[in-house]
Amino acid sequence: MQKVGILGGGQLGRMLLQSAANYVVETWVLENDEECPAAHLCHHFIKGDIRDFDTVYNFGKDLDALTIEIESVNVEALEKLESEGKRIYPRPAAIRTIKNKVLQKDFYRQHEIPTPAYVITQTRSELDEHTGMLPAVHKIGEGGYDGKGVQVLKSSADFPTGFDSASVLEKMVDIRMEIAVIVAVNDAGETTLFPPTEMLFDPILNLLDYQVCPANISQKVLWKAEAIASKVARDLQSPGLFAIELFVDKDDEVLVNETAPRVHNSGHHTIEAHYSSQYDMLWRIILGLPLGNTAAILPSAIVNILGAEGHCGPATYEGFDEVLKIDNAFVHLYGKKLTKPGRKMGHVTILSKDRTDLMHKANKIKHTLKVVSR
Ligand code: ADP
Repeated sequence: MQKVGILGGGQLGRMLLQSAANYVVETWVLENDEECPAAHLCHHFIKGDIRDFDTVYNFGKDLDALTIEIESVNVEALEKLESEGKRIYPRPAAIRTIKNKVLQKDFYRQHEIPTPAYVITQTRSELDEHTGMLPAVHKIGEGGYDGKGVQVLKSSADFPTGFDSASVLEKMVDIRMEIAVIVAVNDAGETTLFPPTEMLFDPILNLLDYQVCPANISQKVLWKAEAIASKVARDLQSPGLFAIELFVDKDDEVLVNETAPRVHNSGHHTIEAHYSSQYDMLWRIILGLPLGNTAAILPSAIVNILGAEGHCGPATYEGFDEVLKIDNAFVHLYGKKLTKPGRKMGHVTILSKDRTDLMHKANKIKHTLKVVSR
């Protein structure tokens, strides 16, 4: 039986492990938090820091293969493990390129992959030299996630909110739609794409609010999106699963925002809505099995279940029964004991042939299910 380790124990790891139960595989999770969402679904839980060289190396040295559910891992340890013959999905070189937004943007430029215009800044004071880029978005090279490493700079008056370390200063795009394409690549280089997901953001928390699949785009935009996503995955030269987040601008140009070298929130709906889910697909890749069918069984929408404003502490769920009464709604709770405002506590997937029905149910669920602490 293959021994496979996952670095990180969040909800993505949890859903990956739910899929692992269908295959012949023995699973390990490395994560500091013993109460993390993935802790109780793996065969072996190892408490430790995924950013520490020795911890990651010792975790991986007796396993057959490794994967990640978050990019902030010790890449040097993965490189050493790779040099000793371990299979790593994706290859450490791809993680290295992607985990730093400066290197990631430079990768797009080197490979002529369309992406918003940008310059690199090393310090906050350098922003003064780039007023020609305004309005812009400042993105910290390393350490940012869920909108926390991103600042909108509309005018030079916003410069004090910029980052004082290596960052990307990117021109603001006139976005019509944000979509994501998940690409699966096996060891032989065979590739398959999931249909694009349309992502809708909460403007205040800057967190994903709902998503719909398939995205409501023209055939021409679909072709561009597929061509660009395939090229990103090909140029990264690695097997694995990649989520390519794209902007469609007002002129229908398609630009890469960023890539995640792992299973991704834009693919949660694939569990119920597609023949092979992104999680199932990653196991097929790791275990050397045939790639799955990415087609949708039915169109779908996702609502994220976020911690309610003003509530911090042990989580309880209000409106849960109401949501379970809705036809074709599938509730996923991530098993996080504590809630706080905006924390991702779960999601609900809705299936329906009819987009209006999807949006209607998504709205209803958003306003019915609340995560509070009382
Ligand atoms: P994170 O890594 O935190 O998800 P992103 O780089 O994806 O950060 O940016 C978060 C959001 O900010 C995007 O989903 C998009 O809505 C907005 N954004 C990012 N870059 C740009 C840009 N160049 N123009 C307009 N909006 C942007």
